[in-house]
Amino acid sequence: MSYELNAKIRELSPYQPISGSYRIRLDANESFLSLPRELVERAALDVLNNQINRYPDPYAEKLCGAFARFYGTQARYVTAGNGSDELISLITGAFFQPEEELITLEQDFSMYHFYGSVYGVKTSIFPKNPDLTVDTVSLAEYINRSGSRGLIFSNPCNPTSLCMERRQVLRLVEQVPDCLVVVDEAYMDFADESILRSAHLCDNLIVLKTCSKAVGLAAVRLGFAVAGDRLTKALRAVKSPYNVNELTQSVGYQVLSDQAYVVDCTEKIIRSRDALYGGLMNLYATHRILQTVYPTSTNFVYIRTRYAKAIFQALLERSIAIRYMGDYLRICAGTKEENQAVLEALDEILTALE
Ligand SMILES: *Cc1c(COP(=O)(O)O)cnc(C)c1O
Repeated sequence: MSYELNAKIRELSPYQPISGSYRIRLDANESFLSLPRELVERAALDVLNNQINRYPDPYAEKLCGAFARFYGTQARYVTAGNGSDELISLITGAFFQPEEELITLEQDFSMYHFYGSVYGVKTSIFPKNPDLTVDTVSLAEYINRSGSRGLIFSNPCNPTSLCMERRQVLRLVEQVPDCLVVVDEAYMDFADESILRSAHLCDNLIVLKTCSKAVGLAAVRLGFAVAGDRLTKALRAVKSPYNVNELTQSVGYQVLSDQAYVVDCTEKIIRSRDALYGGLMNLYATHRILQTVYPTSTNFVYIRTRYAKAIFQALLERSIAIRYMGDYLRICAGTKEENQAVLEALDEILTALE
């Protein structure tokens, strides 16, 4: 006899980001702005002044305070995580019993389904409309009929880049009182339909945020969950005590305390996103191969085309990485030069394909 892996993890492989090095990386929705030296130095000084031989603050109170001031809530409703990925993992693993049903939407962020399968939580997929919008009335009916215990989705959505209105999302949360609703607002800095400030008023709502996109700290690994007292107490009780390290707490605190800096970065990214979208709409007007360029509420643009794979590969050959998913392409906004390079390459590739 030899040790056997259990059935749910036997066939899994480690996550593979695009391998190889490319001149231009527009595949992971990161910010194209790097942190000013002055902010890095301030964070480094914080670290030097703290004792590295001691464990960090398990509740990251200073950091959660800065987050709460920036986003307009209170620190008591905020739990910090080692990236919002950790919080998604934690919620999926701890808030559901095996065989309880967690609903994900299609299309949406693939990690929701992934963590469900790792923890043996039954995930079932509720389809979106053909135009990629969500029928929240049918969704609420489905949840109440099936007795589902959880629903998780991103708003604005990765990858569709579409955003639901605040009113529609809050109505959904209200209509499914027995179901935990997790709204992942990773991209809400680029849109204005956040329900974060209402999170503590709902008994069945957790709002997730990340510092990996607009805030520009993907390498630091920092995310937040915002919820009322009861859910926050449960989140803090099930997380590992020292999940957010001292360096991350210091950098996160310095950056989130510099509100003008974060607002300025967000505005720059939105301007770049608008320029990329405008350029893609021009290509759409002349190249019939592009079937749909979706309106965007995020830092990327989502495109439907049957030639997605060919276009993706032709861009890689020019050392430009974007994301390819079936009949769709997702292109993240970059610097002016990067946007221009991808638009020029696309023009050539589309012309050659036609
Ligand atoms: C990028 C992304 C995250 C990421 O989070 P981390 O904080 O980097 O773990 C979470 N949700 C969605 C929808 C994302 O696109």
